[in-house]
Amino acid sequence: MPVSLSQSFRWFARPLVLVVAALLTTVVASGFFGFQYWQEKQAANLAHERNREVLETLERLKTVIADVEAQRRGYLLTLDPHYLKAYGVSDESVRRDAQALQTLVAGDPLQSHRAGHLAATVAAKLREIDEIVKTVRTYSGPAAMAMIRSLDEIRSQIDQMVDHERFLRVDLEKRYEALERRKAWLITTAVIIVAVLAGVALALARREAIRRRKAIAENIALQGDLLARDKKIRRLVDANIVGVIFWELDGRILEANDAFLKMLGYEREDLASGRVNRTDLTPPEWRHRDLRTVAELKRMGTVQPFEKEYFRKDGSRVPVLVGGTMLEQNQNQGVGFVLDLTERKQAEEALRQSEERFRTLVQFSFDVYWETDAEHRFTHQEFAETLADAPAPGAEIGKTRWEVPYLEPDEEAWRKHRETLEAHLPFRDFELARPGPDGGKRYISVSGLPVFDKTGRFVGYRGVGRHITERRRAEEALRAMQSELAHANRVTTMGQLTASIAHEVNQPIAATVTNAQAALRWLSAQPPDLGEVRDSLRRIVEDGKRAGNVVGGIRTLINKVPPRKDRFDLNEAILEMVALTRSEMLKHGILLQTELAPGLPVASGDRTQLQQVILNLILNAIEAMVGSDKGTRELRINTEREVAGGALVTISDSGPGLDPQDVERVFKAFYTTKAKGMGMGLAICRSMVEAHGGRMWASANEAGGAVFQFTLPLEDESVQARQIQSNPAA
Ligand code: ADP
Repeated sequence: MPVSLSQSFRWFARPLVLVVAALLTTVVASGFFGFQYWQEKQAANLAHERNREVLETLERLKTVIADVEAQRRGYLLTLDPHYLKAYGVSDESVRRDAQALQTLVAGDPLQSHRAGHLAATVAAKLREIDEIVKTVRTYSGPAAMAMIRSLDEIRSQIDQMVDHERFLRVDLEKRYEALERRKAWLITTAVIIVAVLAGVALALARREAIRRRKAIAENIALQGDLLARDKKIRRLVDANIVGVIFWELDGRILEANDAFLKMLGYEREDLASGRVNRTDLTPPEWRHRDLRTVAELKRMGTVQPFEKEYFRKDGSRVPVLVGGTMLEQNQNQGVGFVLDLTERKQAEEALRQSEERFRTLVQFSFDVYWETDAEHRFTHQEFAETLADAPAPGAEIGKTRWEVPYLEPDEEAWRKHRETLEAHLPFRDFELARPGPDGGKRYISVSGLPVFDKTGRFVGYRGVGRHITERRRAEEALRAMQSELAHANRVTTMGQLTASIAHEVNQPIAATVTNAQAALRWLSAQPPDLGEVRDSLRRIVEDGKRAGNVVGGIRTLINKVPPRKDRFDLNEAILEMVALTRSEMLKHGILLQTELAPGLPVASGDRTQLQQVILNLILNAIEAMVGSDKGTRELRINTEREVAGGALVTISDSGPGLDPQDVERVFKAFYTTKAKGMGMGLAICRSMVEAHGGRMWASANEAGGAVFQFTLPLEDESVQARQIQSNPAA
C-alpha cells in the first residue's frame, strides 16, 4: 500500500524533520559551545595549576632563602661551622627551584623574564655570599648585613613575582566565574531551546494528530459517501428508469442496465459478447462531441448532461440526453446516464405543430393577435398578412390602446372599457374605428382575456382583433334592406287595412256631413239658432282634425323615414294602433281587452317603428283567429312594468297558437304559412325591438292561442341598455 505508507510518512514527516533539524542544531551548537567551554576550562585549570605551582615554588624559594640567610647569618655572626652543615643542600635547592620556576612561567613573558632575572640574581648573590663566607675570618656583622641586603633583593624579586601570580589568580578566578556563568547560560539556553522545541513538536504533533483524525473521519465519510453513491447508482441501475452504462474511456461498455439495452434494442448477450461499443453506437457527426466528452471527463472527472443520438441495433436513431462521471476507484472507468428523449422530442414536435396550427388558425380567423402588460401597454402584436393597412411593426408597442389614435368609440365607451380592463375582466367584441388609408373608417372588433401568473398576479391581457369594416358595411346594407322591406311590409299592411282605414276616415267625414247638414238646418230656422250652428261647426272642425290625424298617421306609417328618437307614452301609442284596427276587429267579431299599466315612465325611441310592431302583432293575431274555426275570438293587449324596470307588452290571442318548435322559427325572415304572406313581419318587428334595446319572443297561450311579448327599456334605463349592447363585456 504505497499510498498509505507515503501518507503515514507525510503525516509525521513535517514536524519530525523540523524537530530533528532543530535538535541537531541544538546538539551541534551545544557540542561546539560545550567543547569550547571544556577547552577554556582545561586552559583555566592548567593556568590555575601552574599558578599554584608557581606560588608554591616561590614560597619554597622564599623559605629556602630564609634558611640560607639564617645559616649564613648564624655562621657570619658565630663562625660556627655547624651552621654551614646543610649549606650545600640549601644552595642546590635554591638553584633547582629557581630553574623550576623558569620552566613553570615559560608561557608568561613577563614572569619568564622575571624568573630569568631572579635565577641570575640568585646565582650571583649565592656566589657573592659564598665569597663573603669564604673570606670571613672573624665575626662580621657588616658582612652579615650585606648578605641580608643581597638576599632582600632576591626576596623583593620573589615578592614581585608572587604579586603578579596573585593578580593572575584573581584573574583566573574571574575567568572561572565567567566560565561558570557561560555554562549556566548555555545550559539554560539549551534547556529553553529544547523546551521550546519540545513544545513546538508537541503542538505540531497535536495538530497533525487532529488533521489525521479529521482526514480519517473524512475518509470514513467519503467511504460512506462512496458506498452510498454506489448504492444509489446500483438502485438507479436496477430501477431501469434511465439507462445506466459502465464504460471505459476507450469506449468499451462493461455493463448496462435493461433500460439502456431496451432503449437501443440490444440483448444482454450482445453486451456479453463485447459487440456493444460506445463509439460504434454513436453516429459519425456526434463522434467529435464524444472526443470532447472524454477530454472533459479526464480533466474534470464528470461531464455535464448534453443531447446526442445513438444508433439502435436496427440502425435507426434515438435522441438521448447523456451525462457521466468517472469512477473514483478506477481512473479509466466511469458510469453514464442515458435518458431517452424520443417522447420529449415528439412532444416538442407536437407542440411546434400545435403552435403552427394555432398560428394558422389565428392567421385565418383573426387579423390581429396582441398582448399587453399589466399597465395595458402593447408588448406584442402580430398582424395577418392579409391585413392590407396594418400599422408598421412595433409602431404601437409600448402604447396603450387609447394612446393609439382611434376615431371610435366615444369617450363614455372608452371609460367603460378601461373600467373592465382595470377590473381584469375578459371582454368581447369591443369595436373600434381607426382612420383608413382612403380617409374612411376601418372598424376593428377586439376581444381579450386577462392573464395571471402562477401566484395569481395579473400580468396583462392576451387577445385577438378582427377587421370588421366589411361586416359593418354589410350590416349597414342589411339595415338599409330591412328598411326597404319594412317599408314594403308597411305598405302591404296598409293595403290589408284599406277597409279599416276607409272606415276610420269615413267616420269623421260622415260626421262632418251630418254636422254640416245640421248646421244648415239651424241656419235655415227662423230665427236661426246660431249657438247650435256654432256647436255643429266646432264638431265639424274636430271631425276634420280627426280625419286629418288618421290620414297623417297612415302617411307616417307608410312613409320611408329614417329612425327618429322621440319621447312618448307607450300606452297612447298602443291605443292609436287599437283605434286603427278597431273596425277590422269588429268586422270579424273579435273581442278586444286592453289592460294598460298606468303611470309608465315615458318610452324613448322611434314611435312610428314601435307602432308598426304593435300593428303587425295585432294584425297577425286577427289573421290567425279569422283563419281558425275556434269559437271565441279574443284579443288581449297588456302593458306592465317589467322586473328589470322596463315595460313588458303582451299581445295574446285565442287563435290556433304555435307549435313549440315554431316559437323561434316564426321570427326567421321569409318564414310564412300564409298564401300571400311575406314572412318578414315578425323578423322586422324583432330587429326593431332589439334596436331599441328590448327583446321579443313568442310562446303558446295556456288557454290556446299564441302569445307575443316584447320588452322595451323605459327612459331611465334605455341609455344604459344601448351602451351594454355596444359593449357586451362591460
Ligand atoms: P307573414 O304574416 O307575412 O306570414 P310574419 O312574419 O308576420 O309574416 O309571420 C310569420 C308566420 O308566423 C305566419 O305566417 C304565421 O304562420 C305565424 N304567426 C304569426 N303570428 C301568429 C299568431 N298570432 N298565431 C299563430 N301563428 C302566427
